[in-house]
Amino acid sequence: MNKVAKNVTADIESQYRSIFENAVEGIYQTTVEGRYLRVNPALAKVYGYDTTDDLIKGLTDIAGQLYVDPTRRDDFKRIMSDDGVVRDFEAQVYRADHSVIWITENARCVRGSDGSIMYYEGTVEDITRRKSDEEQIRLLAKVFDSVGDGILIVDRSLTIKAVNPAYEAITSFSSGDLVGTKLDILAPGYHEKTFLPSIWEELNARGHWSGEATCRRLNGAPFIAALSLVAVDGSDDASGHFVITCSDISFRKRQEQRIRHQANYDLLTQLPNRWLATERLEQAIVHAQRHKTGLAVLYIDLNGFKQVNDGMGHQAGDELLRLVAKRLRASTRLSDVVGRLGGDEFVIGASDLSDPRAGRNLAHKILYNFADPFVINGREIFCLPSIGVAHYPSDGNTADLLVRNADMAMYAAKQNKSRPVVVFEPHMLSVAAERLDIENDLRRALARQEFVLYYQPKVDSTTHQIIGAEALVRWQHPEKGFVPPGAFISLAEECGLIMAIGEWTLREACGQFVKWQADNIPIKSISVNLSPTQFLDRGLVDVVQRILTETKIPPGCLELELTEGAMSVDIEQAITTLGNLRALGVKLSIDDFGTGYSSLAYLKRLPIDVVKIDRSFVKDLGKSAADGQIVGAIIALADRLGFNVVAEGVETGEQADILKESQCELLQGYLFSRPVDPGAFTNLFKTP
Ligand code: C2E
Ligand code: MG
Ligand code: MG
Repeated sequence: MNKVAKNVTADIESQYRSIFENAVEGIYQTTVEGRYLRVNPALAKVYGYDTTDDLIKGLTDIAGQLYVDPTRRDDFKRIMSDDGVVRDFEAQVYRADHSVIWITENARCVRGSDGSIMYYEGTVEDITRRKSDEEQIRLLAKVFDSVGDGILIVDRSLTIKAVNPAYEAITSFSSGDLVGTKLDILAPGYHEKTFLPSIWEELNARGHWSGEATCRRLNGAPFIAALSLVAVDGSDDASGHFVITCSDISFRKRQEQRIRHQANYDLLTQLPNRWLATERLEQAIVHAQRHKTGLAVLYIDLNGFKQVNDGMGHQAGDELLRLVAKRLRASTRLSDVVGRLGGDEFVIGASDLSDPRAGRNLAHKILYNFADPFVINGREIFCLPSIGVAHYPSDGNTADLLVRNADMAMYAAKQNKSRPVVVFEPHMLSVAAERLDIENDLRRALARQEFVLYYQPKVDSTTHQIIGAEALVRWQHPEKGFVPPGAFISLAEECGLIMAIGEWTLREACGQFVKWQADNIPIKSISVNLSPTQFLDRGLVDVVQRILTETKIPPGCLELELTEGAMSVDIEQAITTLGNLRALGVKLSIDDFGTGYSSLAYLKRLPIDVVKIDRSFVKDLGKSAADGQIVGAIIALADRLGFNVVAEGVETGEQADILKESQCELLQGYLFSRPVDPGAFTNLFKTP
């Protein structure tokens, strides 16, 4: 080699050395077994060594020390022996401090003249950053594909760049339809002209906008969406993007609306509920104040609703309430407030009534409209209301007060079925307080054994011999003294105590009868009263059956007295129950006959044995010719239909005589005896 040639070689060598020393990539030569022969400073740096010597001395087993997964070295060697080169070989490796990085290698093998591999040489690049970016992109892509919110990505010229599957699912547009087109997601005709410009204005000023908008689906159907727009900066102004997320909140909106409706309206009848009705009443009061007019508040409670509900099922009860609501609406003006307070209670506020009698008139109009039966499941149900009326301004100046006072008047109406409409009077307040007291005491009365049974004889109209007895309950109140049944039976029905009291009465009366029989007291039967609620209770037949068995009373000696009211609610059901009771062998009688709405023709359908003519007809016998005729007609008809007849409330000999002449077999009344305790009843047989 001449000197020039030598110089040139030295030059090239120093150039290579310089490249080797200064390269940003790591460069190495290694033995096939895995020891470093030469490394450049960049590689030492990538692997975390201070100097190249440190690397060469420290890292002597590439397979075991460098690769996180040692089998990667086998992969490397296999590729090398197969191909002679390794390209873009990615692996995780340990650095000197044992931290892990990603690298990519490109290498080749250098062979000797005999073709055997002498060593490997290659480059190493730290791609940890790229790897984590890739990972993040994969993650974001996954989010983009799997979130429930629709996402659109648009460039600064508002051309759609990407659409995620959720957006496709929400709108039915496919990504193919949208990508490359101009952004146009709003449903036309739902927004102010200024809506879009205001969004872009805010987006430009703050970088984001969020709010609700009406968007459109593929078929043009609008839906309410929660939108959010975010500006994402690019490397320059032109390369930025907007990310739009869009979630379909139309379902939530509908639900919100429904909840608002539920909060104000009764779902069953669609009438305003207590809350809204009260608010409307308040408004009506303000109106009345301003225009110096009156306002009538009607509190309406259905009679016998519980019976329909318990007897025919809740669906029938619901249907009845719906029909009642309709009738109430039909009975009032559009401007009147009609609301459901809950259960079977309704309220009406009728404004612009200057005449205080107008409230009562409206109540009677409602009553009239309720006279027709309600048809439920093909059955005719009679359901009359009790109505209480209170007036603004005389009875109160707030909705709460007026409703409360109307309620009190309604309660008074409930107590007296012949007066279905009652107008509020101040003294009712103390009555209500009293009633509350009694209700509390009533709950304890059974346990404290404060009830006793009195017995009133029924006598043969010809011989005046005692044939039977009617058991009548009395309450010996520890402070109030004697409380008559009329004062607590309906209360006991209301507060759910009637079944317990009724069961006690039945057991006590049957037990007494059996005792009398043992003592040879010659009566043939004992009568026990059943209240309407008892009659309509599904458990009644079982209770009677149980008591017959317990007391061993011959079933034919027990007579159950029922009022017409209990049966008129639902005749078909009544017939079934009566049939079931009769199947037990007991006798059935209609109490207070003539005071209800029913006719004898209707009685014909009921499986009963006895008709008890109400006291009100007996009272004027001898004085009024009409009563005499009515009683005569009842007796004759009842006889023809095969019923026995008992006349109640016989107080005078004259009445007894007339009844006897009219062929009434049995008489009951003060003329023979008041209701008395068992001891006194026994004594009735001793007196000559
Ligand atoms: P009711 O079954 O019609 O009983 C007859 C009522 O008339 C009794 O009133 C009796 O004392 C009264 N009375 C009897 N004879 C005469 C008379 O000559 N003149 C007059 N003015 N009244 C007479 P009481 O005992 O106050 O009972 C009232 C109502 O309470 C009963 O009417 C009955 O419907 C109900 N009741 C009584 N005891 C019970 C019971 O144990 N259970 C149920 N569910 N109701 C009962
Ligand atoms: Mg009775
Ligand atoms: Mg009676």
